[in-house]
Amino acid sequence: MGLKKVVILGSTGSIGISTLKVIERFSNKFKVVGLTAYNNFKLLERQIRKFSPTHVAVSTKGVEYLKKHLGARQTRILNVEEDLESLVALKCVDIVVIAMRGSAALGPFLSAIRAGKTVAPANKEALVIAGDILISEAKRHKATIIPVDSEQSAIFQCLEGRNRGELKKIHLTASGGALLDVPKSRFDHLSVNQILNHPRWKMGKKITVDSAMLMNKGFEIIETKVLFQLSIDQIQVVVHPEAIIHSMAEFKDGSIIAQLSITDMRLPIQYALTYPERLESGLKPTNFFELGQFNFKKPDTNKFPALALSIHVGRRGGTLPSVLNAADEVAVDAFLNKKIKFSDIYRIVEKIVLRHRTIKNPTLKKILETDQWTRQETERLIFR
Ligand code: MG
Repeated sequence: MGLKKVVILGSTGSIGISTLKVIERFSNKFKVVGLTAYNNFKLLERQIRKFSPTHVAVSTKGVEYLKKHLGARQTRILNVEEDLESLVALKCVDIVVIAMRGSAALGPFLSAIRAGKTVAPANKEALVIAGDILISEAKRHKATIIPVDSEQSAIFQCLEGRNRGELKKIHLTASGGALLDVPKSRFDHLSVNQILNHPRWKMGKKITVDSAMLMNKGFEIIETKVLFQLSIDQIQVVVHPEAIIHSMAEFKDGSIIAQLSITDMRLPIQYALTYPERLESGLKPTNFFELGQFNFKKPDTNKFPALALSIHVGRRGGTLPSVLNAADEVAVDAFLNKKIKFSDIYRIVEKIVLRHRTIKNPTLKKILETDQWTRQETERLIFR
């Protein structure tokens, strides 16, 4: 078989960078054909020089910059705001890694699926807001979705080759984020930087704030529900601070299958790229003697109400997950820009979620309208 051709949407973020490291290791198996970024066009330029993709997409400012600096390279420079949907659907593309964040990933995600590609999403937002549409379109167009999010990858691996009728439930593990051992009364006294200091994973700012309030886990509950077509009640969150078990599947007979490894995103990325094969990763092995013990706790929904809110939202479904997603995005952004306090994020998101009248089985258009409505309402609430 020839080289598998890969497009990475969001190649300058942490997942994108890790994906390129994996591809570099297996340069005899993969070829980068497309890279995209928004504003980090200097890093994008270095990536272009190293991986020579045939296509790149970047913001308007970045297009000018790259045209000036790349000279006569054989790379087509596209606009990230307009061209992602056509880029992922190019005939030569085999795998699309969705490493960009936000609901902007929905358009290209859907386009890749409709073109029958293998899609490896690290992005949660698209699955949270329009998961049912993505899954049904994937079935229709025989596209394969192999999740990259570490928990979803774990569940995917635990369920592989099993009879789904025999599954009882999923134990979705959570490291607990930066505030696990901080009393709630201290939350608003912490600086943005303290909240951004995640104990296990190095990630982007938005997702790190979401992790601190367990909103990220809430999104993952909804993601798990749609990806594996489960009911909300089949998903149990377990706090596991060591973050070595990345999730578990419990079957009818009481047997539980878990997926374990060190916390390094290159593992789930590699698995998504090489699936169904497993190859040497060259990463540090899991050392049980060094670890000594594993701990488990029930999540505290009084301290982290975002988790309970997400379960409510996941159960209602329809347009409500898109409200949760957009309100959270606006509120976290306001927190990062020091416009609101940490605990205001939840207060604001809850208000907007309760204000929305859910539409069942929405079209994509309705979902996007809801997303717009939510952003306006949330901004109004913050800046009134
Ligand atoms: Mg995760």
